[in-house]
Amino acid sequence: MTTTNQPEAPRSQSDAETYQRLRAHLAFLKLADAAEALPAVLDEARTQKLPAVSTLERLLAVEVDATENRRLTSRLRFACLPAPWSLADFDYTAQPGVDQTLIRELATLRFLDSGTNVLLIGPPGVGKTMLAVGLTRAGAQAGHRVYFTTAADLAARCHKAAIEGRWATMMRFYAGPRLLTIDELGYLPLAADAASALFQVINTRYQNGSATIITTNVGIASWASAFGDPIVAAAMLDRLLHRGVVVGIDGPSYRLRSHQARAENLRTAAVTNHAH
Ligand code: ADP
Ligand code: MG
Repeated sequence: MTTTNQPEAPRSQSDAETYQRLRAHLAFLKLADAAEALPAVLDEARTQKLPAVSTLERLLAVEVDATENRRLTSRLRFACLPAPWSLADFDYTAQPGVDQTLIRELATLRFLDSGTNVLLIGPPGVGKTMLAVGLTRAGAQAGHRVYFTTAADLAARCHKAAIEGRWATMMRFYAGPRLLTIDELGYLPLAADAASALFQVINTRYQNGSATIITTNVGIASWASAFGDPIVAAAMLDRLLHRGVVVGIDGPSYRLRSHQARAENLRTAAVTNHAH
C-alpha cells in the first residue's frame, strides 16, 4: 500500500477534529499499521464510496495481517528450525520409500489435535530431518507453538539444568510447545541421565496429549539395546507408540546421491578433458 497519497483534506473543522481523534485512538491502542494505512484506506473509501462497515473492515484487516505476520515471525524464531526447508521442497520421486499419503495426512496437522507422535526412522541422508523440519514449520504456520531440537541438545540442556537446580523449569519448557521435534535420536549414545530426561519429556507430553516428532536411525527392534537402560527404552517406546505413527524411510541416501552425481560429473569432466 502506498503512503504517498495524501488524504484528501477533511471537509470541515469537525471532520478534521474527528480525524485527529481517530489517529489518537489508533496510537493509544498501538495499532501502528492501521494508523499508517489510514490515509490510504480513507482515500479508497471516498473514491469507491465504500460504506462505513467496509472501510472499518479494510482498516482493521491491515492490522490483523500485520499482527499475524509478526506472530508467525516470532513463532518461527522460537521454533529454532535448523534449515529453511518446508514440506513442499520434499521430492517424493527421489525417495520412493516414503509413504506419500501418510506424509500428506501428517501435513494436515490433525496429528497435533489427536496428540499423535511421529517416529521417522531410517538411515542417514534419506530426508528424516527435512520432513521433520517441514512438519514443524507447517505447525508454526498454522499458528501452533512448535520447538525443534536434537536429542543431544535436549540431553545437554537437561543435564545442565539438573546441576543448576532448574530441572522442573526445563521439564516445563519441553512440555510447553504444541509440537516438540527431537532430531537425531540414537546418533550419539545416550548417558543414563540423558535417557531418563528424554523419557520424562516424552512421558509428560504423552500424558498432556501433546504430539512429539522423533527422527532416529535406530529401528524399533534395536531400541532396547541402543538406549542404555532397556527398561527406560521400552517405556519410552510404549508412550511413543501408544498414540503414534512410524514413518519408515529406507530408500537411498539423498546426500550420497548428490555426492555420486558430483563424482560422476567430475569423472565425465575428467574423461572429456582427456579426450581434448
Ligand atoms: P537425514 O535427516 O535422514 O539424515 P536429511 O533430511 O538431512 O537426511 O537430508 C539430507 C539432505 O538431502 C538434505 O540436504 C535434504 O534437503 C536432502 N534431501 C533428502 N531427501 C530429500 C528429498 N526427498 N527431496 C529433496 N531433498 C532431499
Ligand atoms: Mg538428520
